[in-house]
Amino acid sequence: MKTENNEALVEKLSWCNNCGHKTKHIIQHTGSWSESFLSNESDPRSWYKFDYVWKVLQCKGCDAYKVEELEFLDNQEFGVTQYPASIARQLPDWIGGLPQDLGDLMREVYSAISHHSNRLAAMGLRAMADFVIRDRVGEQSSFRKGLEAIEGAGLIGRKQSEYFASVVEAGHAANHRGWNPKKSEVNHMAEITENVLHTTYILGKHSESLQATTPKRKKMTRK
Ligand SMILES: [Zn+2]
Repeated sequence: MKTENNEALVEKLSWCNNCGHKTKHIIQHTGSWSESFLSNESDPRSWYKFDYVWKVLQCKGCDAYKVEELEFLDNQEFGVTQYPASIARQLPDWIGGLPQDLGDLMREVYSAISHHSNRLAAMGLRAMADFVIRDRVGEQSSFRKGLEAIEGAGLIGRKQSEYFASVVEAGHAANHRGWNPKKSEVNHMAEITENVLHTTYILGKHSESLQATTPKRKKMTRK
């Protein structure tokens, strides 16, 4: 095992979770180590070797640090891991306006998206739909009834209800029919869910504060 430090500060383009896009990063430190294994105890020629290269990167845009681990098997690169993991989908900046449990669930679901756990993310998005229905219109006998109730209460529109139903159905397919959605499909599910949450929990508060601060019309009096 060995570690080393690169004196020369080299730059590389890499994803930054804070900046939300690829930025130039300074490679602040590089270290490496390796380990070898005997795959067959009775065959002394069956050694194979893993090499690990660690890089500490600092974003030139926001100064945030991250660590990148590159793995090599017999000198062939076969994996890159980042700590913290690259965020595949940014949490909306209004997440603080959601009920605490729903916000926590959303963070877990988006973490699953970042770790490419698409089935888990789809199941989690369906669980979020379940939460919204229970929270806003109470326990319902089925998702269909829940969607009807939330639309009937005027909390979401007809089209939103229709789109939200497709999220529920996709989550059901991931949970019960072994469907493994693609990244783009999970993103579509998240996009629709965000729209429903924004309408259901956030826009009402914005509207109330606007009404409170907008100057009232003066009454016209005829002479
Ligand atoms: Zn950054």
